[in-house]
Amino acid sequence: MNIHEYQAKAVLKEFGVPVSRGIAILNAADAEAAAKELGGPLWVVKSQIHAGGRGKGKFKEAAAGDKGGVRLAKSIDEVKLFAKQMLGNTLVTIQTGPAGKQVNRLYIEDGSDIEKEFYLSALVDRVTSRVSFVVSTEGGMDIETVAHDTPELIHSFSVDPATGIMPHHGRTVAKALGLTGDLAKQANKLIGQLYTAFVAKDMEMLEINPLIITKTGELKCLDAKVSFDGNAMYRQPDMLALRDETEEDAKEIEASKHDLNYITLDGTIGCMVNGAGLAMATMDIIKLYGEAPANFLDVGGGATKEKVTSAFKIITADENVKGILVNIFGGIMRCDVIAEGVIAAVKEVGLTVPLVVRLEGTNVELGKKIILESGLNVIPADDLDDAAQKIVKAVKEAA
Ligand code: GDP
Ligand code: MG
Repeated sequence: MNIHEYQAKAVLKEFGVPVSRGIAILNAADAEAAAKELGGPLWVVKSQIHAGGRGKGKFKEAAAGDKGGVRLAKSIDEVKLFAKQMLGNTLVTIQTGPAGKQVNRLYIEDGSDIEKEFYLSALVDRVTSRVSFVVSTEGGMDIETVAHDTPELIHSFSVDPATGIMPHHGRTVAKALGLTGDLAKQANKLIGQLYTAFVAKDMEMLEINPLIITKTGELKCLDAKVSFDGNAMYRQPDMLALRDETEEDAKEIEASKHDLNYITLDGTIGCMVNGAGLAMATMDIIKLYGEAPANFLDVGGGATKEKVTSAFKIITADENVKGILVNIFGGIMRCDVIAEGVIAAVKEVGLTVPLVVRLEGTNVELGKKIILESGLNVIPADDLDDAAQKIVKAVKEAA
């Protein structure tokens, strides 16, 4: 689960982490009061979306100007102007994809004078099974590019959970960033605060890009991106309350309510499959025959008729779906249950695109009979290869 930058900063602040003062607003009308409260003389107007690269992003609408989703303002009038330009408009960054994301919230911050920008992040490292930190002097830019072009500028270390952060971790960070004296002390303190926050809140990733030194010699987190371990949210009600569902895919939210493993993709063929392995194989074979899957969906081993119905509804509600492939291997799952679920869903929401059904395994004959006798316009298939070819052909013919 992700949260907004301003929320992440509020969480980090509780742990003593240095961040700028700021005020989040939902309406452009509140920009003036926020700017006055912060005082100036420099403000930063920051689009709040669940994606990075906002500074270098571009708004789709000309009215929003072409200066990106993070802008420095030198007067209250500029704060007001930028707020009006950004709110309600769609920001496209390297992380949003071409569709972009609508900006519904802004964070107005007290502007900092930057001496230097660094990169710092923490994440759960699956190789070491520990929390690892990544630090680099190359802050404020795309860390993937730094990793690719100049890997020697990226330093990383992991923290033993039995000891937590130790003074030597602080020294490692200070050395990697070229900090001495008081700044090295600040780095040592900061890394301890960040680690404590990370563990206490069940974070999965914490990225500070940039971490800065101000002109007055203070370390400060100028940006903060936090995501939490979804499996831990049951014990983090305060963090769960920060969830902004408007930032998430509506279909994925709906699927999670029915306990379905569903991920939206950008192809045209909706897939309903049981078992993650079979779902992956189904996606692969659709690609092999020249189309692309519109989703990953694993209905699970013991799905009920209701679950299958909800899954089918989520697929048909997706306007990118030009054809549906149901591919079920009945083990624990019975083919007749799948057949009944599909029919119930089609009766409820209708079917406007071709549907290929391939059933195999427990009660397969009964399942096929139920579909045949339903009178629905279903294209039956014998095996995975046959099914994939049939749905791809049907979609291409309909196009
Ligand atoms: P991102 O583009 O989504 O990563 O958003 P950031 O919060 O990292 O902001 C983008 C860039 O704006 C930063 O890398 C800084 O260079 C600049 N920026 C952000 N806040 C300030 C500030 O308070 N003062 C100055 N001078 N620049 C800032
Ligand atoms: Mg950033």
